[in-house]
Amino acid sequence: MKKNDLIELTIEDMSSDGAGIGRYQGMAFFVKDAVIGDTVTAKIIKLKKTYGYARLMEIKEASPDRVEPRCIYARACGGCQLQHMSYQSQLAFKQQKVRENLIRIGGFEGAFADSIMEPIVGMEEPFAYRNKAQFPIGTDGSRTAVAGFYAGRTHHIIANTNCILGVPVNEGVLNAVLDYMKEFDVPAYDEVTKTGWIRHVLIRYGFDSKEVMVCVVANGKRLPAEHALVQKLCAIEGMKSISLNTNMKDTNVVLGGHTRVIWGDSGITDALYLRDTSDFRRIGEKTVYGISPQSFYQVNPVQTEKLYSLVLEYAGLTGKETVWDLYCGIGTISLFLARYAKQVYGVEVVPQAVEDARQNARRNGISNAEFFLGRAEEILPVFYEMGTQEGKGILPEKMELSDEMHHPDVIVVDPPRKGCDGTCIETMIRLQAKRIVYVSCDSATLARDLKKLCDGGYEVKRVRAVDQFGQTVHVETVVLIQRKDT
Ligand code: SAH
Repeated sequence: MKKNDLIELTIEDMSSDGAGIGRYQGMAFFVKDAVIGDTVTAKIIKLKKTYGYARLMEIKEASPDRVEPRCIYARACGGCQLQHMSYQSQLAFKQQKVRENLIRIGGFEGAFADSIMEPIVGMEEPFAYRNKAQFPIGTDGSRTAVAGFYAGRTHHIIANTNCILGVPVNEGVLNAVLDYMKEFDVPAYDEVTKTGWIRHVLIRYGFDSKEVMVCVVANGKRLPAEHALVQKLCAIEGMKSISLNTNMKDTNVVLGGHTRVIWGDSGITDALYLRDTSDFRRIGEKTVYGISPQSFYQVNPVQTEKLYSLVLEYAGLTGKETVWDLYCGIGTISLFLARYAKQVYGVEVVPQAVEDARQNARRNGISNAEFFLGRAEEILPVFYEMGTQEGKGILPEKMELSDEMHHPDVIVVDPPRKGCDGTCIETMIRLQAKRIVYVSCDSATLARDLKKLCDGGYEVKRVRAVDQFGQTVHVETVVLIQRKDT
Protein backbone atom coordinates (compact mmCIF):
# COMPACT_ATOMS: atom_id res chain seq x y z
CA MET A 1 0.00 0.00 0.00
CA LYS A 2 1.38 3.40 -0.92
CA LYS A 3 0.40 7.02 -1.51
CA ASN A 4 -1.86 7.61 -4.54
CA ASP A 5 -3.13 3.99 -4.52
CA LEU A 6 -6.85 3.70 -5.19
CA ILE A 7 -8.67 1.66 -2.58
CA GLU A 8 -12.29 0.61 -2.13
CA LEU A 9 -13.81 0.81 1.31
CA THR A 10 -17.10 0.84 3.13
CA ILE A 11 -17.57 3.68 5.61
CA GLU A 12 -18.47 2.37 9.05
CA ASP A 13 -17.82 5.25 11.41
CA MET A 14 -17.22 9.00 11.54
CA SER A 15 -14.52 11.07 13.22
CA SER A 16 -15.50 14.03 15.37
CA ASP A 17 -14.50 16.40 12.56
CA GLY A 18 -16.94 14.73 10.18
CA ALA A 19 -14.68 12.48 8.08
CA GLY A 20 -15.94 9.01 7.19
CA ILE A 21 -13.87 6.11 8.52
CA GLY A 22 -13.47 2.83 6.67
CA ARG A 23 -11.03 -0.09 6.86
CA TYR A 24 -8.76 -1.39 4.16
CA GLN A 25 -6.42 -4.32 4.82
CA GLY A 26 -6.91 -3.80 8.54
CA MET A 27 -6.01 -0.12 8.46
CA ALA A 28 -8.42 2.70 9.30
CA PHE A 29 -8.73 5.39 6.62
CA PHE A 30 -10.24 8.83 7.11
CA VAL A 31 -12.18 9.94 4.05
CA LYS A 32 -13.57 13.49 4.07
CA ASP A 33 -17.07 13.87 2.51
CA ALA A 34 -17.88 10.16 2.91
CA VAL A 35 -20.86 9.03 5.00
CA ILE A 36 -21.50 5.95 7.14
CA GLY A 37 -23.00 3.36 4.76
CA ASP A 38 -21.20 4.62 1.63
CA THR A 39 -19.00 2.27 -0.36
CA VAL A 40 -16.40 4.45 -2.06
CA THR A 41 -13.25 4.47 -4.09
CA ALA A 42 -10.66 6.71 -2.47
CA LYS A 43 -7.09 7.73 -3.22
CA ILE A 44 -4.54 7.40 -0.43
CA ILE A 45 -3.10 10.84 0.35
CA LYS A 46 -1.26 10.13 3.58
CA LEU A 47 -0.12 6.92 5.28
CA LYS A 48 0.73 6.63 8.96
CA LYS A 49 1.69 3.48 10.86
CA THR A 50 -1.81 2.38 11.83
CA TYR A 51 -4.08 4.70 9.87
CA GLY A 52 -4.23 6.87 6.79
CA TYR A 53 -6.08 9.59 4.93
CA ALA A 54 -7.72 9.12 1.54
CA ARG A 55 -9.54 11.44 -0.86
CA LEU A 56 -13.05 10.50 -1.96
CA MET A 57 -12.92 9.74 -5.71
CA GLU A 58 -16.12 7.89 -6.49
CA ILE A 59 -19.22 6.81 -4.61
CA LYS A 60 -19.84 3.19 -5.62
CA GLU A 61 -22.87 2.75 -3.43
CA ALA A 62 -24.48 5.69 -1.68
CA SER A 63 -25.48 5.55 1.97
CA PRO A 64 -29.21 6.06 2.67
CA ASP A 65 -28.09 9.06 4.77
CA ARG A 66 -26.52 10.79 1.77
CA VAL A 67 -28.21 13.84 0.18
CA GLU A 68 -27.22 16.22 -2.62
CA PRO A 69 -25.58 19.31 -1.04
CA ARG A 70 -27.61 22.48 -1.65
CA CYS A 71 -24.50 24.62 -2.16
CA ILE A 72 -22.21 24.00 -5.10
CA TYR A 73 -19.20 25.00 -2.99
CA ALA A 74 -20.04 22.60 -0.16
CA ARG A 75 -17.12 20.24 -0.77
CA ALA A 76 -14.43 22.86 -1.33
CA CYS A 77 -15.52 25.40 1.31
CA GLY A 78 -14.25 25.00 4.86
CA GLY A 79 -17.52 26.25 6.37
CA CYS A 80 -19.83 23.23 6.03
CA GLN A 81 -18.58 19.71 6.67
CA LEU A 82 -21.89 17.79 6.64
CA GLN A 83 -24.02 19.20 3.82
CA HIS A 84 -23.92 15.84 2.04
CA MET A 85 -25.71 14.20 5.01
CA SER A 86 -29.46 14.29 5.64
CA TYR A 87 -30.28 16.62 8.52
CA GLN A 88 -31.61 13.71 10.61
CA SER A 89 -28.29 11.87 10.24
CA GLN A 90 -26.38 15.07 11.10
CA LEU A 91 -28.34 15.24 14.36
CA ALA A 92 -27.62 11.57 15.10
CA PHE A 93 -23.91 12.22 14.43
CA LYS A 94 -23.88 15.12 16.89
CA GLN A 95 -25.72 13.22 19.61
CA GLN A 96 -23.20 10.43 19.20
CA LYS A 97 -20.26 12.86 19.26
CA VAL A 98 -21.36 14.26 22.63
CA ARG A 99 -21.94 10.72 23.99
CA GLU A 100 -18.52 9.52 22.82
CA ASN A 101 -16.77 12.48 24.45
CA LEU A 102 -18.60 11.92 27.73
CA ILE A 103 -17.39 8.33 27.72
CA ARG A 104 -13.90 8.71 26.26
CA ILE A 105 -12.83 12.00 27.88
CA GLY A 106 -15.28 12.35 30.76
CA GLY A 107 -14.82 8.77 31.89
CA PHE A 108 -18.56 8.11 32.23
CA GLU A 109 -20.05 4.66 31.65
CA GLY A 110 -22.04 4.22 28.43
CA ALA A 111 -25.21 3.23 30.31
CA PHE A 112 -24.87 6.28 32.56
CA ALA A 113 -24.36 8.57 29.54
CA ASP A 114 -27.52 7.13 28.00
CA SER A 115 -29.47 7.70 31.22
CA ILE A 116 -28.59 11.43 31.44
CA MET A 117 -28.68 12.38 27.75
CA GLU A 118 -31.90 13.87 26.46
CA PRO A 119 -32.77 13.98 22.73
CA ILE A 120 -30.85 16.56 20.70
CA VAL A 121 -32.81 19.71 19.89
CA GLY A 122 -32.76 20.12 16.10
CA MET A 123 -33.62 23.04 13.88
CA GLU A 124 -36.84 23.35 11.86
CA GLU A 125 -34.93 24.82 8.91
CA PRO A 126 -31.20 24.07 8.96
CA PHE A 127 -30.31 26.76 6.36
CA ALA A 128 -30.23 30.60 6.42
CA TYR A 129 -29.97 30.47 10.19
CA ARG A 130 -26.81 32.50 10.85
CA ASN A 131 -27.21 36.12 11.98
CA LYS A 132 -23.50 36.76 11.59
CA ALA A 133 -21.11 36.33 8.70
CA GLN A 134 -17.47 37.19 8.43
CA PHE A 135 -16.39 37.26 4.79
CA PRO A 136 -12.69 37.49 3.93
CA ILE A 137 -11.93 39.83 1.02
CA GLY A 138 -9.18 38.93 -1.44
CA THR A 139 -8.27 39.03 -5.09
CA ASP A 140 -8.92 36.48 -7.82
CA GLY A 141 -6.53 35.51 -10.65
CA SER A 142 -7.44 38.60 -12.67
CA ARG A 143 -6.77 40.99 -9.74
CA THR A 144 -10.49 41.61 -9.15
CA ALA A 145 -11.61 41.90 -5.53
CA VAL A 146 -13.70 38.95 -4.34
CA ALA A 147 -15.59 38.11 -1.15
CA GLY A 148 -16.23 34.59 0.00
CA PHE A 149 -15.02 31.87 2.30
CA TYR A 150 -11.76 30.14 2.91
CA ALA A 151 -11.37 26.70 1.36
CA GLY A 152 -10.93 24.03 4.08
CA ARG A 153 -7.68 24.49 6.05
CA THR A 154 -6.34 27.16 3.66
CA HIS A 155 -6.48 30.90 3.12
CA HIS A 156 -7.57 30.51 -0.49
CA ILE A 157 -10.85 32.41 -0.92
CA ILE A 158 -13.72 30.74 -2.73
CA ALA A 159 -15.75 33.62 -4.15
CA ASN A 160 -19.32 33.30 -2.90
CA THR A 161 -21.37 36.26 -1.74
CA ASN A 162 -24.44 34.14 -1.11
CA CYS A 163 -23.67 31.57 1.58
CA ILE A 164 -26.78 29.49 2.17
CA LEU A 165 -26.24 29.39 5.93
CA GLY A 166 -26.48 33.18 6.02
CA VAL A 167 -29.23 35.74 5.49
CA PRO A 168 -30.08 37.28 2.08
CA VAL A 169 -28.91 40.77 3.11
CA ASN A 170 -25.28 39.57 3.14
CA GLU A 171 -25.17 39.55 -0.63
CA GLY A 172 -26.29 43.18 -0.96
CA VAL A 173 -23.74 44.30 1.62
CA LEU A 174 -20.87 42.46 -0.06
CA ASN A 175 -21.81 43.73 -3.51
CA ALA A 176 -21.89 47.29 -2.16
CA VAL A 177 -18.38 46.87 -0.69
CA LEU A 178 -17.03 45.21 -3.85
CA ASP A 179 -18.60 47.95 -6.05
CA TYR A 180 -16.97 50.61 -3.93
CA MET A 181 -13.60 48.85 -4.14
CA LYS A 182 -13.86 48.69 -7.93
CA GLU A 183 -15.08 52.23 -8.41
CA PHE A 184 -12.44 53.82 -6.20
CA ASP A 185 -9.66 51.36 -6.92
CA VAL A 186 -9.37 50.25 -3.31
CA PRO A 187 -7.35 47.03 -3.22
CA ALA A 188 -8.08 44.04 -1.01
CA TYR A 189 -5.51 43.28 1.69
CA ASP A 190 -2.88 40.81 0.52
CA GLU A 191 -1.74 38.45 3.29
CA VAL A 192 1.57 37.74 1.56
CA THR A 193 2.76 41.26 0.74
CA LYS A 194 0.80 42.76 3.66
CA THR A 195 -0.37 45.59 1.43
CA GLY A 196 -3.83 46.69 0.33
CA TRP A 197 -6.79 47.81 2.39
CA ILE A 198 -9.82 45.66 2.98
CA ARG A 199 -9.40 42.43 4.96
CA HIS A 200 -12.84 41.31 6.07
CA VAL A 201 -16.46 42.36 6.06
CA LEU A 202 -18.40 41.43 9.16
CA ILE A 203 -22.19 41.51 8.94
CA ARG A 204 -24.77 41.02 11.68
CA TYR A 205 -28.50 40.89 11.20
CA GLY A 206 -31.13 41.08 13.92
CA PHE A 207 -33.66 38.33 13.18
CA ASP A 208 -36.24 40.04 15.38
CA SER A 209 -35.31 43.71 14.82
CA LYS A 210 -34.41 43.35 11.09
CA GLU A 211 -31.49 45.72 11.78
CA VAL A 212 -28.20 45.37 9.89
CA MET A 213 -24.69 46.10 11.13
CA VAL A 214 -21.61 46.17 8.92
CA CYS A 215 -18.05 46.35 10.17
CA VAL A 216 -15.35 46.69 7.52
CA VAL A 217 -11.97 45.46 8.75
CA ALA A 218 -9.18 47.44 7.11
CA ASN A 219 -5.44 47.65 7.12
CA GLY A 220 -5.55 51.33 8.12
CA LYS A 221 -7.38 53.94 10.19
CA ARG A 222 -9.40 55.38 7.30
CA LEU A 223 -10.41 54.36 3.83
CA PRO A 224 -10.17 56.28 0.55
CA ALA A 225 -13.55 57.87 -0.31
CA GLU A 226 -15.09 56.58 2.92
CA HIS A 227 -18.24 58.65 2.28
CA ALA A 228 -18.85 56.72 -0.96
CA LEU A 229 -18.71 53.39 0.89
CA VAL A 230 -21.10 54.76 3.50
CA GLN A 231 -23.46 56.04 0.80
CA LYS A 232 -23.66 52.62 -0.85
CA LEU A 233 -24.11 50.74 2.42
CA CYS A 234 -26.64 53.00 4.10
CA ALA A 235 -29.00 52.58 1.13
CA ILE A 236 -29.51 48.95 2.19
CA GLU A 237 -32.80 48.27 3.96
CA GLY A 238 -32.42 47.95 7.72
CA MET A 239 -28.89 49.40 7.84
CA LYS A 240 -28.31 50.69 11.37
CA SER A 241 -24.60 50.75 11.99
CA ILE A 242 -21.49 50.99 9.82
CA SER A 243 -18.07 50.88 11.41
CA LEU A 244 -14.46 50.59 10.44
CA ASN A 245 -12.18 48.31 12.38
CA THR A 246 -8.45 48.77 12.07
CA ASN A 247 -6.33 45.63 11.94
CA MET A 248 -2.77 46.25 10.74
CA LYS A 249 -1.27 43.12 12.27
CA ASP A 250 0.01 40.05 10.46
CA THR A 251 -2.53 37.78 12.12
CA ASN A 252 -5.41 35.37 11.53
CA VAL A 253 -7.48 37.17 14.18
CA VAL A 254 -10.17 39.00 12.24
CA LEU A 255 -10.81 42.09 14.35
CA GLY A 256 -8.13 44.58 15.34
CA GLY A 257 -8.21 46.59 18.55
CA HIS A 258 -9.73 49.84 17.21
CA THR A 259 -13.27 50.34 15.92
CA ARG A 260 -14.72 53.64 14.70
CA VAL A 261 -18.38 54.15 13.85
CA ILE A 262 -18.54 55.80 10.41
CA TRP A 263 -22.31 55.95 10.09
CA GLY A 264 -25.35 55.40 12.32
CA ASP A 265 -25.37 53.68 15.70
CA SER A 266 -22.54 51.81 17.38
CA GLY A 267 -24.33 48.49 16.94
CA ILE A 268 -27.71 46.86 16.46
CA THR A 269 -30.34 45.49 18.77
CA ASP A 270 -32.07 42.15 18.69
CA ALA A 271 -34.50 40.32 20.95
CA LEU A 272 -34.73 36.77 22.22
CA TYR A 273 -37.96 35.18 23.45
CA LEU A 274 -38.52 32.66 26.20
CA ARG A 275 -39.76 29.28 24.91
CA ASP A 276 -41.68 26.46 26.50
CA THR A 277 -39.15 23.63 26.75
CA SER A 278 -41.78 20.95 26.20
CA ASP A 279 -42.50 21.98 22.60
CA PHE A 280 -40.14 24.96 22.12
CA ARG A 281 -42.93 27.31 21.19
CA ARG A 282 -42.41 30.96 22.10
CA ILE A 283 -44.28 31.90 25.23
CA GLY A 284 -44.14 35.64 25.01
CA GLU A 285 -41.60 37.28 27.18
CA LYS A 286 -38.74 38.89 25.31
CA THR A 287 -35.37 40.36 26.28
CA VAL A 288 -33.81 43.02 24.07
CA TYR A 289 -30.06 43.16 23.54
CA GLY A 290 -27.74 45.81 22.11
CA ILE A 291 -24.81 44.20 20.29
CA SER A 292 -21.50 45.88 19.34
CA PRO A 293 -19.23 44.60 16.56
CA GLN A 294 -16.62 43.43 19.11
CA SER A 295 -19.08 41.58 21.34
CA PHE A 296 -19.99 37.93 21.15
CA TYR A 297 -23.59 37.10 20.30
CA GLN A 298 -24.86 33.58 19.54
CA VAL A 299 -25.03 33.10 15.76
CA ASN A 300 -28.28 31.13 15.58
CA PRO A 301 -31.00 33.15 17.34
CA VAL A 302 -33.82 30.62 16.87
CA GLN A 303 -31.85 27.80 18.52
CA THR A 304 -30.41 30.22 21.10
CA GLU A 305 -33.92 30.85 22.42
CA LYS A 306 -34.32 27.10 22.91
CA LEU A 307 -30.88 26.84 24.50
CA TYR A 308 -31.42 29.69 26.95
CA SER A 309 -34.90 28.41 27.83
CA LEU A 310 -33.25 25.09 28.72
CA VAL A 311 -30.61 26.93 30.78
CA LEU A 312 -33.44 28.59 32.71
CA GLU A 313 -35.15 25.24 33.29
CA TYR A 314 -31.91 23.54 34.39
CA ALA A 315 -31.10 26.47 36.74
CA GLY A 316 -34.32 25.67 38.64
CA LEU A 317 -34.86 29.23 39.83
CA THR A 318 -37.60 30.22 42.27
CA GLY A 319 -36.77 33.93 42.63
CA LYS A 320 -34.62 33.55 45.75
CA GLU A 321 -31.35 32.50 44.14
CA THR A 322 -28.02 34.20 43.64
CA VAL A 323 -26.57 33.28 40.27
CA TRP A 324 -23.11 33.77 38.79
CA ASP A 325 -23.02 33.86 34.97
CA LEU A 326 -19.41 33.32 33.94
CA TYR A 327 -18.30 34.16 30.38
CA CYS A 328 -21.45 36.24 30.09
CA GLY A 329 -20.74 38.19 26.87
CA ILE A 330 -23.35 40.97 26.50
CA GLY A 331 -25.30 39.53 29.41
CA THR A 332 -27.63 37.41 27.29
CA ILE A 333 -28.00 34.52 29.72
CA SER A 334 -27.70 36.76 32.81
CA LEU A 335 -30.66 38.87 31.73
CA PHE A 336 -32.67 35.86 30.56
CA LEU A 337 -32.35 34.49 34.12
CA ALA A 338 -32.51 37.73 36.13
CA ARG A 339 -36.31 37.91 36.17
CA TYR A 340 -36.44 34.55 37.94
CA ALA A 341 -33.53 35.06 40.36
CA LYS A 342 -32.83 37.31 43.31
CA GLN A 343 -29.52 38.54 41.94
CA VAL A 344 -27.29 37.74 38.96
CA TYR A 345 -23.57 38.53 38.67
CA GLY A 346 -21.94 38.31 35.25
CA VAL A 347 -18.23 38.08 34.42
CA GLU A 348 -16.79 38.83 30.99
CA VAL A 349 -13.33 39.67 29.65
CA VAL A 350 -14.19 41.93 26.66
CA PRO A 351 -14.72 45.53 27.90
CA GLN A 352 -17.20 46.46 25.14
CA ALA A 353 -19.28 43.37 25.93
CA VAL A 354 -19.46 44.33 29.64
CA GLU A 355 -20.52 47.83 28.58
CA ASP A 356 -23.23 46.24 26.36
CA ALA A 357 -24.31 43.97 29.24
CA ARG A 358 -24.79 46.91 31.64
CA GLN A 359 -26.73 48.87 29.04
CA ASN A 360 -28.80 45.80 28.21
CA ALA A 361 -29.80 45.46 31.84
CA ARG A 362 -31.02 49.07 31.82
CA ARG A 363 -32.70 48.61 28.43
CA ASN A 364 -34.82 45.80 29.90
CA GLY A 365 -35.46 47.54 33.22
CA ILE A 366 -33.50 44.84 35.06
CA SER A 367 -31.85 46.08 38.25
CA ASN A 368 -30.74 42.81 39.85
CA ALA A 369 -27.89 42.07 37.43
CA GLU A 370 -24.36 43.35 37.91
CA PHE A 371 -21.41 42.83 35.59
CA PHE A 372 -17.69 42.53 36.28
CA LEU A 373 -14.92 43.00 33.75
CA GLY A 374 -12.12 40.44 33.87
CA ARG A 375 -11.21 36.81 33.46
CA ALA A 376 -13.56 34.38 35.19
CA GLU A 377 -10.54 32.55 36.65
CA GLU A 378 -9.29 35.80 38.21
CA ILE A 379 -12.55 37.44 39.32
CA LEU A 380 -14.16 34.37 40.87
CA PRO A 381 -11.26 33.56 43.27
CA VAL A 382 -11.30 37.18 44.47
CA PHE A 383 -14.95 36.82 45.45
CA TYR A 384 -14.26 33.49 47.06
CA GLU A 385 -11.40 34.98 49.11
CA MET A 386 -13.57 37.92 50.11
CA GLY A 387 -16.07 35.53 51.55
CA THR A 388 -13.47 33.93 53.78
CA GLN A 389 -12.12 35.51 56.98
CA GLU A 390 -8.72 36.21 55.41
CA GLY A 391 -10.32 37.74 52.36
CA LYS A 392 -12.41 40.40 54.11
CA GLY A 393 -9.51 42.88 53.87
CA ILE A 394 -9.36 42.89 50.09
CA LEU A 395 -12.86 44.26 49.61
CA PRO A 396 -12.68 47.19 47.18
CA GLU A 397 -13.74 50.51 48.64
CA LYS A 398 -17.47 51.21 48.65
CA MET A 399 -18.17 47.63 47.76
CA GLU A 400 -20.49 45.89 50.12
CA LEU A 401 -19.90 42.19 50.08
CA SER A 402 -23.12 40.36 50.44
CA ASP A 403 -23.00 36.88 51.83
CA GLU A 404 -24.72 35.67 48.69
CA MET A 405 -21.83 36.64 46.45
CA HIS A 406 -19.67 33.85 47.74
CA HIS A 407 -22.59 31.52 48.36
CA PRO A 408 -24.18 31.39 44.94
CA ASP A 409 -27.02 28.95 44.52
CA VAL A 410 -26.38 28.50 40.82
CA ILE A 411 -23.34 29.06 38.62
CA VAL A 412 -23.80 29.22 34.85
CA VAL A 413 -20.72 28.92 32.63
CA ASP A 414 -20.58 29.37 28.86
CA PRO A 415 -16.88 29.39 27.97
CA PRO A 416 -15.25 29.51 24.52
CA ARG A 417 -14.14 26.25 22.88
CA LYS A 418 -11.16 25.75 25.12
CA GLY A 419 -13.49 25.31 28.09
CA CYS A 420 -13.02 26.59 31.66
CA ASP A 421 -9.64 27.44 33.09
CA GLY A 422 -8.52 25.01 35.81
CA THR A 423 -8.53 27.72 38.49
CA CYS A 424 -12.06 28.64 37.52
CA ILE A 425 -13.26 25.05 37.98
CA GLU A 426 -11.45 24.72 41.33
CA THR A 427 -13.04 27.93 42.60
CA MET A 428 -16.46 26.84 41.39
CA ILE A 429 -16.06 23.66 43.44
CA ARG A 430 -15.01 25.67 46.52
CA LEU A 431 -17.99 28.02 46.18
CA GLN A 432 -20.24 24.97 46.64
CA ALA A 433 -23.13 26.18 44.52
CA LYS A 434 -26.01 23.69 44.58
CA ARG A 435 -26.29 23.65 40.81
CA ILE A 436 -23.98 24.39 37.92
CA VAL A 437 -25.35 24.81 34.41
CA TYR A 438 -22.60 24.32 31.84
CA VAL A 439 -23.23 25.61 28.30
CA SER A 440 -20.56 24.40 25.92
CA CYS A 441 -19.71 24.72 22.23
CA ASP A 442 -17.07 21.97 22.42
CA SER A 443 -18.12 18.67 23.95
CA ALA A 444 -14.50 17.49 24.33
CA THR A 445 -13.48 20.28 26.73
CA LEU A 446 -16.93 20.00 28.32
CA ALA A 447 -16.31 16.32 29.11
CA ARG A 448 -12.87 17.17 30.54
CA ASP A 449 -14.39 19.82 32.84
CA LEU A 450 -17.31 17.58 33.89
CA LYS A 451 -14.81 14.99 35.05
CA LYS A 452 -13.11 17.59 37.27
CA LEU A 453 -16.44 18.76 38.70
CA CYS A 454 -17.45 15.17 39.45
CA ASP A 455 -14.11 14.59 41.22
CA GLY A 456 -14.94 17.71 43.24
CA GLY A 457 -18.23 16.42 44.66
CA TYR A 458 -20.69 17.08 41.85
CA GLU A 459 -22.76 14.77 39.70
CA VAL A 460 -24.08 15.19 36.19
CA LYS A 461 -27.87 15.08 36.08
CA ARG A 462 -28.98 16.12 32.59
CA VAL A 463 -27.27 16.61 29.25
CA ARG A 464 -28.92 18.04 26.15
CA ALA A 465 -27.33 18.84 22.82
CA VAL A 466 -28.79 21.73 20.86
CA ASP A 467 -27.93 22.07 17.20
CA GLN A 468 -26.90 25.67 16.70
CA PHE A 469 -24.75 24.97 13.66
CA GLY A 470 -26.58 22.84 11.05
CA GLN A 471 -24.42 21.48 8.17
CA THR A 472 -21.29 21.77 10.32
CA VAL A 473 -19.76 19.32 12.80
CA HIS A 474 -20.20 21.72 15.70
CA VAL A 475 -22.73 21.18 18.45
CA GLU A 476 -23.79 23.11 21.53
CA THR A 477 -24.54 21.25 24.76
CA VAL A 478 -26.23 22.25 28.00
CA VAL A 479 -25.58 20.25 31.16
CA LEU A 480 -27.07 20.29 34.65
CA ILE A 481 -24.57 19.42 37.36
CA GLN A 482 -25.60 19.12 40.99
CA ARG A 483 -23.75 18.89 44.31
CA LYS A 484 -23.89 15.31 45.56
CA ASP A 485 -25.02 16.27 49.07
CA THR A 486 -28.03 18.36 47.99
N1 SAH B 1 -22.89 33.64 27.47
C1 SAH B 1 -22.71 34.52 26.35
C2 SAH B 1 -21.33 34.51 25.75
C3 SAH B 1 -20.71 33.18 25.48
S1 SAH B 1 -19.28 33.19 24.46
C4 SAH B 1 -23.76 34.26 25.30
O1 SAH B 1 -24.42 33.23 25.30
O2 SAH B 1 -23.95 35.11 24.44
C5 SAH B 1 -17.98 33.20 25.57
C6 SAH B 1 -17.66 34.56 26.13
O3 SAH B 1 -16.58 34.39 27.05
C7 SAH B 1 -17.18 35.60 25.13
O4 SAH B 1 -17.95 36.76 25.30
C8 SAH B 1 -15.72 35.84 25.50
O5 SAH B 1 -15.33 37.18 25.30
C9 SAH B 1 -15.71 35.50 26.97
N2 SAH B 1 -14.44 35.05 27.57
C10 SAH B 1 -13.44 34.39 26.99
N3 SAH B 1 -12.50 34.04 27.90
C11 SAH B 1 -12.93 34.52 29.10
C12 SAH B 1 -12.41 34.47 30.43
N4 SAH B 1 -11.26 33.87 30.69
N5 SAH B 1 -13.13 35.04 31.41
C13 SAH B 1 -14.33 35.64 31.15
N6 SAH B 1 -14.86 35.72 29.92
C14 SAH B 1 -14.18 35.16 28.90
